[in-house]
Amino acid sequence: MGLNAEWMQRDLAVLWHPCTQMKDHERLPLVPIRRGEGIWLEDFEGKRYLDAVSSWWVNVFGHANPRINQRIKDQVDQLEHVILAGFSHQPVIELSERLVAMTPAGLERVFYADNGSSCIEVALKMSHHYWLNVGKPEKKRFVTLSNSYHGETVAAMSVGDVALFTDTYKALLLDTLKVPSPDCYHRPEGVSWEDHSRLMFGHMEQALAEHHREIAAVIVEPLIQGAGGMRMYHPVYLKLLREACDRYGVHLIHDEIAVGFGRTGTMFACEQAGITPDFLCLSKALTGGYLPLAACLTTDRIYQAFYDDYSTLRAFLHSHSYTGNPLACAAALATLDIFESDRVIENNRRLAARMAQATAHLADHPQVAEVRQTGMVLAIEMVQNKVSKTPYPWQERRGLKVFEHALSRGALLRPLGSVVYFLPPYVITEEQIDFLAEVASEGIDIATRDSVSIPLGDRYPGFRDPG
Ligand SMILES: *Cc1c(COP(=O)(O)O)cnc(C)c1O
Repeated sequence: MGLNAEWMQRDLAVLWHPCTQMKDHERLPLVPIRRGEGIWLEDFEGKRYLDAVSSWWVNVFGHANPRINQRIKDQVDQLEHVILAGFSHQPVIELSERLVAMTPAGLERVFYADNGSSCIEVALKMSHHYWLNVGKPEKKRFVTLSNSYHGETVAAMSVGDVALFTDTYKALLLDTLKVPSPDCYHRPEGVSWEDHSRLMFGHMEQALAEHHREIAAVIVEPLIQGAGGMRMYHPVYLKLLREACDRYGVHLIHDEIAVGFGRTGTMFACEQAGITPDFLCLSKALTGGYLPLAACLTTDRIYQAFYDDYSTLRAFLHSHSYTGNPLACAAALATLDIFESDRVIENNRRLAARMAQATAHLADHPQVAEVRQTGMVLAIEMVQNKVSKTPYPWQERRGLKVFEHALSRGALLRPLGSVVYFLPPYVITEEQIDFLAEVASEGIDIATRDSVSIPLGDRYPGFRDPG
């Protein structure tokens, strides 16, 4: 038995993997990784895989990045962790100063959580609690877009709308108000992204006009609905939304957990709309993909509504054990240093252009409905019928074919259902982009050859699942 197989066997005897139908591994090999370097992951038999999805969208400057490694090593000798209530430390103070300075004007306070989902919980709780504190307890519902994703904890699922992850738990969820997404994939022919997104705003305007008295906040994934299939929309929607939230007295929560830190072409997606949300949720790339950490930034106005004598019971009594962990903050500081010193956002323009160039031919593929891109995310939507955009039945798991082909070629491409996408670390080279495009093209050819004989397990069409 090879080393990979040995580790796989030990793994499958004791682990229960995230977002996985474990029975799939009766057929599908699990890939044990021994080491990472730059954009490469290496298994126990020396085979390398180009990490085209940034290890679930978190890694931006490669694996085992020497600068981030060093910062964490230095920090671990100083202080690994300390309670953040009543105590503080240098990395968390410096990181907070820098986040406040680099995010849009008006975001002046940073509250930490230890992963994206719990950061969403913080924003939802804080928003409702704010309205309680200012005497509007009826404002307790949240407005969310169709096809949105905000994480896996119960309140985060409540504001999400990817059926695969939420339907099962319907009975547990909060009552939210769902508005059709400005997603431009379904725009009529000849209509621009901007016009379509602007038109779709009508639904939001109407929902706010009717329900604003009971609404605490609107929550959106700005510009890219990630887990919903890398669906994209125009920044004008965010601008209109900001204006409407102000008019109706409703908070705006930007979930930039996936799109923050350069993914959309600007440091933060909200910059493209020229707006400041009331809550900005950050995680994933915040630590360069090293350690779990999340930051919920908010305004002084919201902060002041909680600032009072203890006996008024207005304080935000929320905490996580690892809130503001020093090692994670150190990784984040090193990551921000690299953004600054390496002119990353500028360099990414060249890489984004190369991604477009290398995949342009796929727009003509008979089973590809769309090749779309926002900054450093490029998505290719495979369909059964190009003209009507009829999707493949999810049971066919076409994306899984692409995943398997890519693995055999030494690339980690993990489609969302039938959407093949690149979301690479920013250290990718132009040659590596060309290689990825080649692998994706081959994979799409293989996956869209008529009858794909699958049913592999039955329940799982997609997200975080290679199918
Ligand atoms: C990943 C993600 C989350 C959840 O973050 P976790 O750290 O996985 O809990 C929330 N919102 C968006 C947009 C995400 O992509």
